[in-house]
Amino acid sequence: MKKKETLPIGSFDICLSNRCNLACRYCYFDSINRGAPQFLDFAAVKKAVDAYVSLVSVRGIDKISVAGGEPFLDFPLLLKIAKYIRRSCGPRTEIEVFTNGTLATPEKMRRLLRYTGKIVISLDGRKASNDLNRVFLKGRDSVFEAVMNNLRGLTAAERLKVCASMTVTAATAGGLCANIRFLRGLGLGEVQINVNLLERWSREDLDRLRVSARALRAYYGELAAAELRSFEGFRFGLEYILLKWDETLKESGVFKEISVAPDGRFYPCGLVSTYGPQKREFAIGTLEKGFDRRRLRSLRAAAVRAMLAADRGIGLLEYIPNPMLLYFETRLKGEDLREVFANARRVFKVFYDELSVFLRLERFFDILSSDPLVGDFSHEPPFRSGKGLRSLAVAMGEPGRPAAKACACGKGWVGFPGLAQRRRAADLLLYSPGGNKELRLRSERPSEEFELTGSAAVYAALKARALGGKLKVKVELPPGGVTSSSRT
Ligand code: SF4
Repeated sequence: MKKKETLPIGSFDICLSNRCNLACRYCYFDSINRGAPQFLDFAAVKKAVDAYVSLVSVRGIDKISVAGGEPFLDFPLLLKIAKYIRRSCGPRTEIEVFTNGTLATPEKMRRLLRYTGKIVISLDGRKASNDLNRVFLKGRDSVFEAVMNNLRGLTAAERLKVCASMTVTAATAGGLCANIRFLRGLGLGEVQINVNLLERWSREDLDRLRVSARALRAYYGELAAAELRSFEGFRFGLEYILLKWDETLKESGVFKEISVAPDGRFYPCGLVSTYGPQKREFAIGTLEKGFDRRRLRSLRAAAVRAMLAADRGIGLLEYIPNPMLLYFETRLKGEDLREVFANARRVFKVFYDELSVFLRLERFFDILSSDPLVGDFSHEPPFRSGKGLRSLAVAMGEPGRPAAKACACGKGWVGFPGLAQRRRAADLLLYSPGGNKELRLRSERPSEEFELTGSAAVYAALKARALGGKLKVKVELPPGGVTSSSRT
């Protein structure tokens, strides 16, 4: 019998209109404020959400994002949409709204947060960096000041539900660290770092980026030492630089997003939805006819082939396993994929050279926090050893058995074989009487198995620190792999 094919689809991006009250200099939204205005009304959004939910089922939803142009241009509509999504997708679905923050008054954000749980505001850091690129379509007022006025009206608890999405350009690269310090100081729940990769970065730009990334490494080191107590509550914001999916390109269905655009068509991702008429070649359905799964599958497969070919001799895929957005953007702009990849690799190499330890930590946090069997960081063990345990060795994985990996059904991480048991073993050691303990985590396989071993090691180290104990963690890989140890 032919195996039933599953098409990885996780998140849904709703692009409401091609109108915005800003005219940012790096705007990725190719069709913004150009041509005839296009808006999705409530009936269209409802139809799109219903089609998406029937495609993936409520359990399969990774996240639903609502963006504009600027979605606060029509706040009553935005609120109605948020209510509808919450009602039809249930309390567990992650809903986020992207805004430039200038029209998002505290009262409006407060009302919206009842349904969405998260608002993402584009803010590039301090005034000089932000207003260098982010400007109003009309008038000369400061965008930075407008956003800050709105943020100041939120309570500390409300600000934790707001995420700053900063874009680093060649011109602002030297301020990377200072801008992140500033944004973290605002008390927001998260700071995401995005990089403008379609501009060409010169040697001098990269040098400035490196100096600032080095300063950021020192700052993150201080923060991690002082604050890192929970894999849920601490993010470095780097996951948007190094996309977090770990599927390899060879597995083809690498990018899980689909999107509906203001023209009433479905596209393979939100970025494609923001383009002008040239995007039609990537359409994967319409509101009237629904999704064309075959078309989506073949578009993704063609993208994977093109990216693998373009990367030969360049090595961008060493750094970002899934540069699908870059692929589509390059195609839509008619640029040369190899040149874009080479430029992007130079930029990513700087981030990776200077910040790889935090990139890796973030990856481990993703694994820990998205495995429902692991629970949260403060999970208490179901039973404890009455005897003092000083040392415990835990073998992970068996040679010859397939490595643990992301679920192939496209519904995101659904649990990692063995990770919950590893957490329990670490807890058994950590909660037993006595101090100065040693945990040896032995992995039988490299690659994905190492990610699980690393995640278990990070869990044990953080938990030991939270419990106030001393723990030495040793990670051992099969012959040829790396052995590392750390002490809390
Ligand atoms: S706020 Fe966003 S959509 Fe509007 S101009 Fe700026 S980048 Fe483009």
